[in-house]
Amino acid sequence: MLFSDIIGQEAIKEQLRQTVHSQRLPHAQLFSGVEGVGKLPLALAYARYINCENRNKQDSCGNCPSCIKFNKMVHPDLHFVFPIVKNDAKKMTVCDNFLADFREAVLTNPYLTVNTWLNQIGEGKQGQIYTNEGDEIIRKLNLKTYESEYKIMIIWAPEKMHESCANRVLKIIEEPPPKTIFLLISDTPDEIIGTIQSRVQRISIPPINVKDLVAHAQNRYTLPTDELQLLARMAQGSWSHMQALVEQTDEMKINFERFIQLMRLSWALNVKELRAWVDELVAAGREEEKQFLQYAQRMIRENFVLHLKQPTLSYMSQQEQAFAKNFSQFINERNILDIMDELALAEAQIEQNGNGKIILLDLSIKLYRLLKK
Ligand SMILES: [Zn+2]
Repeated sequence: MLFSDIIGQEAIKEQLRQTVHSQRLPHAQLFSGVEGVGKLPLALAYARYINCENRNKQDSCGNCPSCIKFNKMVHPDLHFVFPIVKNDAKKMTVCDNFLADFREAVLTNPYLTVNTWLNQIGEGKQGQIYTNEGDEIIRKLNLKTYESEYKIMIIWAPEKMHESCANRVLKIIEEPPPKTIFLLISDTPDEIIGTIQSRVQRISIPPINVKDLVAHAQNRYTLPTDELQLLARMAQGSWSHMQALVEQTDEMKINFERFIQLMRLSWALNVKELRAWVDELVAAGREEEKQFLQYAQRMIRENFVLHLKQPTLSYMSQQEQAFAKNFSQFINERNILDIMDELALAEAQIEQNGNGKIILLDLSIKLYRLLKK
């Protein structure tokens, strides 16, 4: 990861470069900000820049012996601490046991989220940085520096450190070994123990600009620019959300068609066709039912916003907007809350393994009444 690989964040990059140029490197920094804004990529680019043997004013050289090791995240003075799902049977209880997988995951997608990582290694189990990682951290920091001026430890999701591990890290941060730099990275910095929070210099990483998200997406996806702009606004500055939204776009188109049908059939109370509509959605599975209901809640909300004549607040695709032009007149102050409640209730009932056919048919009949209000 070079600074030039990072999406947007020019001001933060400059701030980080300045700490190197002025030789005022804080020994412990916390990169905080919402998921997907580039905290881990920034830490990787920054660590590389600190140790590059031939950096220029803007970026690392990319070719020196240090950079070459950074390319594969195998620099001996670069250490990683991250949450894992331990496996006692296989004696996999510390980060090093997962390091090869971690490197591969981050090199494949530097904007990896903590949840994606944990799902990848632990099939949805809760992850942690366990107690015994504390010994590993101290062992690594006591090693002499191999090749570089600085030893750098990146702690990803420090809020997931077990308390005893966190206390040991706190002690080291309070009395750091010379030429050692800690880069902590957190989506939820307030969950880190307060004593650590107060010992680190916090850098808030802001959301990525819409313009930068769109520009980056254009290099990777074939969607038209206006669709990417819409998704970028919905992603609220997070590249990982942007990726997820692009991948969901197909899903969105299916849900859009379903939504139009449901509204038309409910309005007309066409029970025969409503039954067919319900059967088709139920056949697609429970997950699809829930996703449709979430989508429907978004559409109703957006149509209400449009009804209030505040289209600048509306986050809809062109197709959705075209439909909403007429439909939004039916969503008003008298029915918005009830419709939202009914959709949320149906979603909750399906979540609790209720009978989809009954729940959805019941919903459509309630919609018939509410849409006429
Ligand atoms: Zn270099």
